[in-house]
Amino acid sequence: MDTTMDLRTTPAQEAFRLEARSWLAAHTPPPRSLPSLDTAEGFEAHRQWEQTMFDDRWSVVSWPEEFGGRGVGILEWLIFEEEYWRAQAPLRVSQNGVFLLAPTLFEFGTEEQRARFLPAMASAREIWCQGWSEPDAGSDLAGIRSRAVRSEGDDGWLLTGQKTWASRGAFAEWCFGLFRTDPEAERHRGLTYFLIEMSTPGVTVRPIPQIDGETGFAEIFFEDVFVPDGQVLGGVGRGWNVAMATAGSERGLSLRSPARYTEAASRLVDLYAHSLQTEPARAARSADAVAQAWMDAEAYRLNTLWTATRVLSGGSVGPEASANKIHWSETDLAIHRAALALLGPEAEFHGDGVDAPWLDGYLFALAGPIYAGTNEIQRNVVAERMLGLPRG
Ligand SMILES: Cc1cc2nc3c(=O)[nH]c(=O)nc-3n(C[C@H](O)[C@H](O)[C@H](O)COP(=O)(O)OP(=O)(O)OC[C@H]3O[C@@H](n4cnc5c(N)ncnc54)[C@H](O)[C@@H]3O)c2cc1C
Repeated sequence: MDTTMDLRTTPAQEAFRLEARSWLAAHTPPPRSLPSLDTAEGFEAHRQWEQTMFDDRWSVVSWPEEFGGRGVGILEWLIFEEEYWRAQAPLRVSQNGVFLLAPTLFEFGTEEQRARFLPAMASAREIWCQGWSEPDAGSDLAGIRSRAVRSEGDDGWLLTGQKTWASRGAFAEWCFGLFRTDPEAERHRGLTYFLIEMSTPGVTVRPIPQIDGETGFAEIFFEDVFVPDGQVLGGVGRGWNVAMATAGSERGLSLRSPARYTEAASRLVDLYAHSLQTEPARAARSADAVAQAWMDAEAYRLNTLWTATRVLSGGSVGPEASANKIHWSETDLAIHRAALALLGPEAEFHGDGVDAPWLDGYLFALAGPIYAGTNEIQRNVVAERMLGLPRG
């Protein structure tokens, strides 16, 4: 396999970049002008933004045209992401669907499932949450206890149990979740991946307020919730494999594009330049941290191009997704820590007087080593599957 990276862009890719840039310049709301997507009002405002993007076919550029995309490749998607973050466009409220479930639907879904779910996801008419974690099963996902039993004569399943930490679960219309369908089978083998409509009788959602009071999460309770066979993804008992494909997208290429970090790193450098004038002693103390954070973001960008090259040459992402996840989450923390050190006590006010973007970003970055599988678990994966070390 030839994995030589060619860092040059083609004229067609540059034309695509300019088209994206000019569309975003004309349509993007001012930075941070929408209410937080972890509030009911903000969730709807972000849905509207997704709809605006969808109308001009910018919401899912890498998907086939029949589902609302432009059918472009990974490199063009990375270019779009660069422009998206450069424009400081809103966070993607549909990210669980578009970046996590969709690649899994393309790989494991039936034709009917793709036709049913992808267009509504692309237009954000239906927004998805992820129902994996349970109160006693987070890192040990194969230890989930929520179960599904056959519904006699109904061509479907009855789901019972509790999920927790579902991001935007308080507002989402649909949930993709893992349930135990065979309690006798070995832990990883008895699981099935279900697509569940949140308005189905028997589903109860209880929002969990975060430290800032916003209901970013929810617990979801299932009590004999009927799900038809057509909403099993990837086959009964195959849930673990299907879930690992979703996790690969979450940790690997699709959830966190490098542009998110290179854009933040470039704002950090601007902040440093400003601090040199206003707080030179503080700036001098932070110079190394700023340079390191910028280099980490750039290293992630180059590593992603290498991964993309591998995928374009017929390879797959594999366990490298875990190394990737450690890198992006730690880079995010490094960028925000350096910014807070530069700002000192002003961090709480810096911005347009009322919000504190670096502090908000830092609070979210703190969660990076936890969500999408904790970094300790990712280090275990790297040790065992990339370095070939014995199981701990
Ligand atoms: C912002 C955010 C968003 C989230 N969104 C979702 C969502 O949408 N849907 C969803 O299902 N879940 C979601 N989660 C939950 C997340 O997936 C879990 O928190 C995570 O998998 C860890 O599980 P846990 O909290 O049960 O911690 P535990 O598994 O109890 O782990 C506690 C600590 O022990 C360590 N540990 C555990 N086992 C090992 C081991 N074998 N080796 C070394 N260390 C170990 C962990 O690394 C961690 O530090 C979200 C979490 C956050 C923070």
